[in-house]
Amino acid sequence: MLPALIFSACAMTLIVGVRYLVVSGAFAWATARRYPGLYAGQGRQIRREIGWSLASAAIYGVPAGVLAWGWDQHSWTRIYSHAADYPLWWLPLSVLVFLFAHDTWFYWTHRWMHRPAPFRVAHAVHHASRPPTAWAAMAFHPWEALSGAIVIPGLVLIVPIHVAALGIVLAVMTVMGVTNHMGWEVFPRYWVQGKMGRWLITASHHQRHHTDYRCNYGLYFRFWDRLCGTDRGLGAFDHRGRGGGAGAGGGDDAA
Ligand SMILES: [Zn+2]
Ligand SMILES: [Zn+2]
Repeated sequence: MLPALIFSACAMTLIVGVRYLVVSGAFAWATARRYPGLYAGQGRQIRREIGWSLASAAIYGVPAGVLAWGWDQHSWTRIYSHAADYPLWWLPLSVLVFLFAHDTWFYWTHRWMHRPAPFRVAHAVHHASRPPTAWAAMAFHPWEALSGAIVIPGLVLIVPIHVAALGIVLAVMTVMGVTNHMGWEVFPRYWVQGKMGRWLITASHHQRHHTDYRCNYGLYFRFWDRLCGTDRGLGAFDHRGRGGGAGAGGGDDAA
């Protein structure tokens, strides 16, 4: 029992770590092509971001590995693999429920971490990236990583989700974590500044959190920020003199 549990935790840590390196690496490569020199002079910061992120990979990997083991051995979780076990409409809805629950948890813990004491102890690590890069996706102090690492394992114990839908949730989590920090907007301007962008968070929104701090706390949706009056609209990227033209987040929609 114990060797299988340890193996599962180590395997999951490896998967999370490699996933981070591959996805952040791919977007860092895309950044170098689209905006050559955007990360110039940030070598030290990037090494720091990678170090914290790999530490976070273990903190994310261990609870995920324990849950994967419990799912396999003891049917602990409510993850299911036969799509017909629940109504088909639950497939897309479960993805939304997971993303909204994660966003809600993130908004309130993140907002709390901007109080002086927890900021000093934990969240300052994430904000030491000025400006963040594609490598900052998981650059969190271990306390903050722990607060994030328990969300999905906790949800799969309570809310039924098909294994493929869970894969989509994890893919969205990974890609948005990277793109929101990479210093330019990957989504088209008409989307970011249109109706969808009023409710969905992309790099232009999170950029403003990293410049202004006490606003734009959300993860995927602007729902809580708008409801609680902490949404300050989209930030701007300064790409002058660098390749590729301006980013999509030039405006302030004063949400
Ligand atoms: Zn951030
Ligand atoms: Zn913050």
